[in-house]
Amino acid sequence: MQILDGKQTAAYYRSKVALKVEELKKNGIAAPRLAAFLIGDNIASAMYIKMKEKACAEVGILTRTHVLDAKTPEAEIIKLIKDENADPQTSGILVQLPLPKHYDEKKILSYIEPSKDADCFLPQNIGHMFLGDETTVLPCTPLGVMKLLKYYKIDVASKEVCIIGRSNIVGKPLAFLMLKDNATVTMCHSKTRDLKEVAKRADILVAAIGRAKMIDSSYVKPGAVVVDVGINHIEKPDGKHETCGDCDFESVSKIASYMTPVPGGVGPMTIAMVLYNTLYNYVLIKKLDIKMDIEP
Ligand code: NAD
Repeated sequence: MQILDGKQTAAYYRSKVALKVEELKKNGIAAPRLAAFLIGDNIASAMYIKMKEKACAEVGILTRTHVLDAKTPEAEIIKLIKDENADPQTSGILVQLPLPKHYDEKKILSYIEPSKDADCFLPQNIGHMFLGDETTVLPCTPLGVMKLLKYYKIDVASKEVCIIGRSNIVGKPLAFLMLKDNATVTMCHSKTRDLKEVAKRADILVAAIGRAKMIDSSYVKPGAVVVDVGINHIEKPDGKHETCGDCDFESVSKIASYMTPVPGGVGPMTIAMVLYNTLYNYVLIKKLDIKMDIEP
């Protein structure tokens, strides 16, 4: 079994983004900026924002993080988003989800200027993606999965792909990207009948469920490629905490041909794609003559 190393692969894609940012600067063009909103006191969200800031700094992308407490009036958040929309150097805006429950996530996100949508969460961008617009920004986690497979030269064309999980940010858009690359896609979810039997047909099995270690080898065809998107934090019997995926790594790695670890699999790829999208938006907004080819 070969590990699909997201850390190493993300470092490769980040280095490609860094080269493009360097190219901008050499041409006298200021670096793009990612503006992030961290609202409330969700520990995981704070950690993700830190990781994104660090990754941006590494490739020369500027960051501005709005750290706001959970009592911040909605109008103030919207005003700050509008300010970022108007700032010509900001090309990526993201609001770290989930927001504290009393906020209307959909409403707040709707104020992001679609051309600056770093996550590709907005209906305008998702719509363009589904209609096959080749120039639109793509959602970070699904894009990260596709780039990871590409890096390892795993071709999805004509393969049976099973995706477990149908969220708007992972499962559904990933199914679309797989389909676009000519895979035969089966979507599974909590109401799927005979989940094991369906999953076992897959040449490429993707778990994006949010259930720690639910997928063991009994769901996997021998030799399948397994991509574990899940990030779960569990308490072990000894009281220590562990981050794990939706797959039982020990069990699945015995029969898969390739597999992503958690941590160090899809997570770093998602962050690399936030950087890519921020630069990509900048190039489009400013109509720069920079090719965004980052493939190996
Ligand atoms: P979600 O909670 O929005 O959706 C979960 C999906 O799993 C649903 O479609 C549901 O139908 C399905 N599901 C739930 N229980 C099931 C079961 N018993 N059998 C079959 N299907 C079941 O999830 P999400 O936002 O897509 O996130 C999924 C996981 O991926 C989470 O662990 C999340 O933390 C992780 N995630 C990781 C990254 C990353 O960068 N690695 C990015 C986003 C999400």
